[in-house]
Amino acid sequence: MVDAASPDTPRARWARVLLKVSGEAFAGEAGYGIDGAVVQRIAREIVEVRDDLGIEMAIVVGGGNIWRGMSGAGAGMDRAQADYMGMLATVINALALQDTLEQLGQPTRVQSAIHMAQVAEPYIRRRAIRHLEKGRVVIFAGGTGNPFFTTDTTAALRAVEIEAGVLLKGTHSGTDGIYTDDPRTNPDATKLTEVTYLDVLNQGLRAMDSTAITLCMDNDLPIVMFDLTGDGNVRALLEGRPVGTLVR
Ligand code: UDP
Repeated sequence: MVDAASPDTPRARWARVLLKVSGEAFAGEAGYGIDGAVVQRIAREIVEVRDDLGIEMAIVVGGGNIWRGMSGAGAGMDRAQADYMGMLATVINALALQDTLEQLGQPTRVQSAIHMAQVAEPYIRRRAIRHLEKGRVVIFAGGTGNPFFTTDTTAALRAVEIEAGVLLKGTHSGTDGIYTDDPRTNPDATKLTEVTYLDVLNQGLRAMDSTAITLCMDNDLPIVMFDLTGDGNVRALLEGRPVGTLVR
């Protein structure tokens, strides 16, 4: 679907995209919980870009601002139980984002991999695609529904399933792409504009976990890793300007 913009969407680089938003992006300065102003800023950018470029937009939200399975496991909890708590955390973030998007007039649907009929549709691939075709933003919650996975892997999986043209992995930790090393600790680290999946895996570059990268590699799904906190970045990269790091 790369470069498949229709005549109605001449500037869109991809017709359907999947945006991964980490839970921590929602936390803002506090580093924990949900900062309404931050969610508002992300939602506004999504709505504007979607409207202007006519892009079909699906979103996977993380849960790290509330709970991470590894933290629970590290404290002695059963790992699978702790991971289910993490998946539930993603639902809370999904509902926050849904509310904010809808207040901005954007129709949305939340689909959860863990069944929760009162608050979200179950994840049904074909229905998700139909929602996208109707102009709704679809937010995928509950991760993959399986412990021992991450929401990065969820993003890769859902992107492949809905045949998105690209996986946009938004970062929020001050880095604006993939570097040769951690730029926060190594001043000599340089930013890479493009890398291969195998570079990421073999060199252990900080991008996404190896399960997610492998899934993208096996399915030829490009990834753009970019700074989600930078105003206008989503628009810039969807318009084809060089933002972040391209993995393919
Ligand atoms: N999680 C899981 N299976 C999945 C997705 C997520 O068990 O398919 C759990 C896992 O415990 C993880 C937590 O949900 O730590 C929150 O997701 P993640 O850490 O990926 O969130 P992010 O880092 O994006 O905020």
